[in-house]
Order: sequence, then C-alpha cells, then structure tokens
Amino acid sequence: MSSSGISQQAVLANQVAVVTGSTDGIGFAIARRLARDGARVVVSSRKQQNVDRAVAALQGEGLSVVGTVCHVGKAEDRQRLVATVLEHCGGLDILVCSAGVNPLVGSALGASEQVWDKILDVNVKAPALMLSQLLPHMEKRGKGAVVLVFSISAYMPVVQLGPYNVSKTALLGLTRTLSLELAPKGIRVNCLVPGVINTDFSKVLYKDEVFWNNFKENYQLQRVGHPEDYAGLVSFLCSPDASYITGENISVAGSSFHL
Ligand code: NAP
Repeated sequence: MSSSGISQQAVLANQVAVVTGSTDGIGFAIARRLARDGARVVVSSRKQQNVDRAVAALQGEGLSVVGTVCHVGKAEDRQRLVATVLEHCGGLDILVCSAGVNPLVGSALGASEQVWDKILDVNVKAPALMLSQLLPHMEKRGKGAVVLVFSISAYMPVVQLGPYNVSKTALLGLTRTLSLELAPKGIRVNCLVPGVINTDFSKVLYKDEVFWNNFKENYQLQRVGHPEDYAGLVSFLCSPDASYITGENISVAGSSFHL
C-alpha cells in the first residue's frame, strides 16, 4: 500500500465506480476496496450525514472519493447520482448495487402490500432502474462491470424473512437477464451472494441464540462474515482479470452454497 492509500497494483486505475448503499456495512467496505485498488468512487446512501461521514473517512485515507445522497428507490435521487457521476468523474465503468432493505421480520403471507412494495422497489427494481439511467454513460466506455448483491437466503429461504427471500431470489433472474442483454455491449453482470455479515442489517439474526446455534451447525467456518470479507471478490469481478466472467452468482458465506 502506498502513502496515498491506493494499492501498488491499482488494478482499477482510471476507472470510475458507483456503489449504492455505501456509507456503512458491506457497501462501505466495497467502496473502500475499489478506491484502494485505484478507482475513483462515488459513495451514496439516503442520509446526508452518513454520506458526509463516509466521504470524510475515505478521503482521510487518501482515497479518491466523492459522495451524494441517493435513496435508490427514488427516481430524482437516482438522477442526482447520475449528475454527480458526470460532474465529478465524467463517465462510469463500474456499478455495485449494495443498497437493500428488509422492513419486516415475518412470513411472506403476513406481509402487507406496503411492505412488499418497499422491498421489491428497493431490492429488485432499483438496481435495474439505476443501471438503465447509468447505462448510456457506461456504454460510451465500450465495457463495464456490474455487481448486484443478493443473499444466501435467495437459495435457502430464512423462515423469518419471507418477502426479503423472494426479492433476493428475483435478483438471480435479474443478474442472468442483464448479463444476456448487456453482453453485446461488453458489460458484464455478476452477483455477490453474502452469508450472514456482522452489520446492523442482520443483528436481529446473529444475536438470536436459536439462529446462531443452527448457523454454527450448518456453516463450515462457524463465524459470521465481516464486511471486508466481501470486498476483494467484488474488486476482482470488476477488474480486467474477470473479463471473461459474466452471469455468475458467487457465494461468500463461510460454507458452500450453489444454485
Ligand atoms: P447495513 O450495514 O445496514 O448498511 C446499509 C447501507 O445502505 C447504509 O449505508 C445505508 O445508509 C444504505 N441504505 C439503506 N437503504 C438504502 C436505500 N433505500 N437507498 C440507498 N442506500 C440505502 O447493511 P449491509 O449488511 O451492509 O447490507 C448491504 C446489502 O447486503 C443489502 O443488499 C443486504 O440485503 C445484503 N446482505 C446483507 C447480509 C447481512 O447479513 N448483513 C446478508 C446477505 C445480504 P443510509 O441509512 O444512509 O441510507
């Protein structure tokens, strides 16, 4: 690592990356890693103070980062993100969609229409709409990489997470559909499949004793993941070394999961 915080190899040098939901959790770890690997990174999330904190932290490490507020479920916020990318970076090579929500601990059939709308809007529709707004600028580069973030609950539904499980399974379809649609443009679309990570998002799960005991029996490495466990794979998937990989879903979950 050089004194600027950027890795000596800089595999993503001269690339511009947008990471949604990147002021905390795995989105933040991914943004930091992409910047350390040489990319100029646009961080974003719903709350201005979180954006300011994340940008200050990463710039304080000498990394090339700008930020803007973007609730991925709001069209005007997505448009502002596009404007920020163009104003500060002039184009785009990489999009990582990490923003995701789960407003309900409960069953699919117990969920209200409002809950379904929120989960599907943010987790499924937003990555597609975000990409369609950014695509013209990525196309101009003649290549690009997109990484969606789903969850092993897409493969093995968690009983308390009904609509969330469904939304993450839908992202599998989105990854494969987009990879087909965008291959002729030289844009690759892959998917990161996390297990349980020790972030705010999942504390309801990993702090639950019954869940944890069951988890330990089924996960070979017997620990929850840390945000940094995911960042290296995402950087690889966005790098030239992955130029022949598309349409894949790769689990990073302390155990072996496939679909
Ligand atoms: P986290 O630690 O709670 O961080 C979530 C980040 O996303 C924050 O920066 C938050 O900032 C932002 N955010 C939330 N809603 C947003 C929205 N509508 N638009 C834009 N930004 C938004 O969550 P995490 O654990 O890193 O989870 C990130 C992704 O990983 C999600 O897609 C989740 O489904 C997936 N995942 C997580 C786990 C796990 O165990 N944690 C497991 C599998 C998959 P603001 O509050 O400022 O918006």
